Amino acid sequence: MTTSSSPSIVWLRDDLRLADNPAIRAAVDRGEPIVVLYLLDEESRGIRPIGAASRWWLHHSLTALGDSIAERGGTFVLRRGAAAEALPKLVDEVGAGAVFWNRRYGGTREVDAALKTSLRESGLEAQSFQANLMHEPWTVTTGSGTPFKVFTPFWKACLEQGEPRASLPTPQTLEGVTGVDSDDLADWALLPTHPDWAGGIAEAWVPGEHGAHERLEQFCGDGLEDYAAGRDEPSQDATSRLSPYLRFGEISPFQIWDRVQRGQLSPAARRNAPKFLREVGWREFNYNILFHFPQLQTDNFRPEFDAFPWSKPRQEVLEAWQQGRTGIPLVDAGMRELWQTGYMHNRVRMVVASLLIKNLLIDWRVGEAWFWDCLVDADEANNPANWQWVAGSGADAAPYFRVFNPMLQADKFDRHGEYQRRYIPELGTDDYPSPIVDLKESRAEALEAYDHLKNAQ
Ligand code: FAD
Repeated sequence: MTTSSSPSIVWLRDDLRLADNPAIRAAVDRGEPIVVLYLLDEESRGIRPIGAASRWWLHHSLTALGDSIAERGGTFVLRRGAAAEALPKLVDEVGAGAVFWNRRYGGTREVDAALKTSLRESGLEAQSFQANLMHEPWTVTTGSGTPFKVFTPFWKACLEQGEPRASLPTPQTLEGVTGVDSDDLADWALLPTHPDWAGGIAEAWVPGEHGAHERLEQFCGDGLEDYAAGRDEPSQDATSRLSPYLRFGEISPFQIWDRVQRGQLSPAARRNAPKFLREVGWREFNYNILFHFPQLQTDNFRPEFDAFPWSKPRQEVLEAWQQGRTGIPLVDAGMRELWQTGYMHNRVRMVVASLLIKNLLIDWRVGEAWFWDCLVDADEANNPANWQWVAGSGADAAPYFRVFNPMLQADKFDRHGEYQRRYIPELGTDDYPSPIVDLKESRAEALEAYDHLKNAQ
């Protein structure tokens, strides 16, 4: 190993990019050789092992990143294990003098804080940076200093903080360290094999930093012009589809802000930009909630929902929902889009979640877990926060009594049935099942269950 110097370790987590990466920037500025580390940590406290579709994405994202690092002469090391052991071990092996990372905001914060303390106690430089949120949760508070629980004033307060910083350029070279052991990515078995169900996902997506920027450019040149009106129509390609790239940090919100606010746009796109950035703001809001309420995935944000009388899911009903065989076309199209591509349009996510929670009276956590496994953008803040939003148990949530009617939603947002037919070729034939639930009756039952909850207070 060539370690006459004291190398820097950059520990990447949900920030799999070279551009606009403050931890990498700090390592480059320090001027010593750099080891870029990705740790597959499924053991530390606060870690939720990622789902199957995300594992597929992670494999390809790490491959793309490894190539970019190699092109710049750098060293990319893959290791597996709990951070509290694996990171200090690598520090010893390479004789590192500094460790840099970008901050996380969920339940793993304690792991990071403990590591920072112990590395510093051992005489190393250990620093964390703001990279994945434009507004860190502790910087945005109400006038009385408490966290926001409602989105609109939260976003207003964010905007009042002024423009986020400009994004950082990609380093041209990364001086590496030779002879450091790395796992072989293939040994992590992140990809499905028997059967390989990821064909549709591979057709739909190009993971990695390059894919993210291509997608952003395409969106700025096309979809953004019609975003405010088109974003609710699942047959249109009017949304950015940046969610998995944001989830894995292949693009940062700073870069999106930069491109949209400071780059070239048509007048129509410029008019639609605030609406789009507001949605990116919802991501910031959900991380703000997660930061203050790290048990978001397991516990109702509004504890009064703890008394909700969920029914025990019957296996055949749950499977009909999961496999897109409920006999309710918009729901089935959404669930099949999810299965085939690892993604579902936002409008349809709300509709399928509402059917599960309200018409089938199944606990939102059951649906959240299915999404966690199937979505390529499954995100520790956005997934549970949105499920709780639909359930009514979340912060700034839709009221429980607002039950989406999937037939009316289809009439309104997929008027010509294009999206539904795309995913349900047998629609209108004898092969398509009849509805597993009566929408009107089940709506009434849901409202009754909600009354029970209210009366229990
Ligand atoms: P765009 O409309 O182009 O929006 C741009 C970005 O803003 C998105 O990439 C996303 O980062 C953010 N954003 C948009 N809508 C929301 C929202 N409602 N909440 C938070 N951030 C938002 N999003 C995830 O990223 N991961 C999830 O696991 C996830 N689970 C969801 C579960 C349910 C039940 C529902 C109703 C929504 C969920 N969403 C989730 C939010 C939303 O559906 C997706 O972010 C959006 O569909 C991604 O498509 P896009 O990138 O084209 O969005």
